[in-house]
Amino acid sequence: MTDTRAILVTGGAGYIGSHTVRLLAGEGRKIVVLDNLVHGHEDSIIDTAVDFVLGGIGDHALLRSLFQRYDFSSVVHFAAFAYVGESVTKPLKYYRNNTAEPLALLEVMEEFGCKNFVFSSTCATYGIPDQIPITEKTRQSPINSYGRSKLMLEWILADCETAWGLRSACLRYFNASGCAEDGLIGEDHNPETHLIPRVLMALTGEAGPVEIFGTDYPTPDGTCIRDYIHVKDLAAAHAKALDHLANGGNSVRVNLGTGVGISVKEIISAVEKVTGQTVPLVLGNRRAGDPAHLVADPSLAAELLGWRATRLDIVETVRSAWAWMNGPKRGRYATKS
Ligand code: UDP
Repeated sequence: MTDTRAILVTGGAGYIGSHTVRLLAGEGRKIVVLDNLVHGHEDSIIDTAVDFVLGGIGDHALLRSLFQRYDFSSVVHFAAFAYVGESVTKPLKYYRNNTAEPLALLEVMEEFGCKNFVFSSTCATYGIPDQIPITEKTRQSPINSYGRSKLMLEWILADCETAWGLRSACLRYFNASGCAEDGLIGEDHNPETHLIPRVLMALTGEAGPVEIFGTDYPTPDGTCIRDYIHVKDLAAAHAKALDHLANGGNSVRVNLGTGVGISVKEIISAVEKVTGQTVPLVLGNRRAGDPAHLVADPSLAAELLGWRATRLDIVETVRSAWAWMNGPKRGRYATKS
């Protein structure tokens, strides 16, 4: 059964948030986006039935006015900073935004008796895993402030469950990638550090040659292996998690990945196949903090939420990212972050 009450989506103007909002609104759900537009783009919300509110998740007065007005059944919480490198040099910024600010949101949820919370967690909470594929039983031992800021919120959610019955779905994303195939919404980060858009930008001329961060890893081709999960599959998991909680399901902590590992060189080959162009490359050194191999075991999400990744062909995922770069917005929103 799909919930008919309004859903608050924080950070709904970001990359994964906007694809999720589009899916949820397209299913006829009433969506209210709260986003401070520090990294988000208001024009990534293309469904006119969605209410957009400019503001922060730490603003009690604003949150109370929204909860009074909308009677939310659930919150989907994306709003966070997500640059791993920056989190190392500016840890307090990450703990403030990703761990401390959501406390206001949770306080107001408790006040209003709203007890369903879907949370954007991350595979960065595992750190350097002691086993591949990574299951939810793999030890969570993050190696940077970003991962720790997210893991702490997972713990806080568990404590809120004990104290006042909050139920949560912690969705641990692997490498979000791809865009809507129609090229109407996509990924617009500034700076862009993620591999697929970065490689494509080397072809559009928006960035110089791609540096491969390390070619001496203990992997078949020497480059790092990741689990690239299509953003539309991620969006679908949020719909499943919302329904699971709305129907009285228990809290879940699940990996969202494909279960398939792809190397940096394989991504470059996929880009060359899609574009027909040769990617200009520089073979560089390893990037600090990059584990050689990160791949999800996604079976628990299938068991508990009935969710599975459906877009397993990396060439098609890259094609969708290329569609965004060549779509009407040419890979850039008009509203600047
Ligand atoms: N990577 C790379 N060159 C780049 C960007 C990324 O070689 O310009 C590699 C990076 O070392 C990692 C993989 O591509 O092994 C994915 O990196 P990304 O930053 O997209 O995501 P992460 O896995 O760090 O979350």
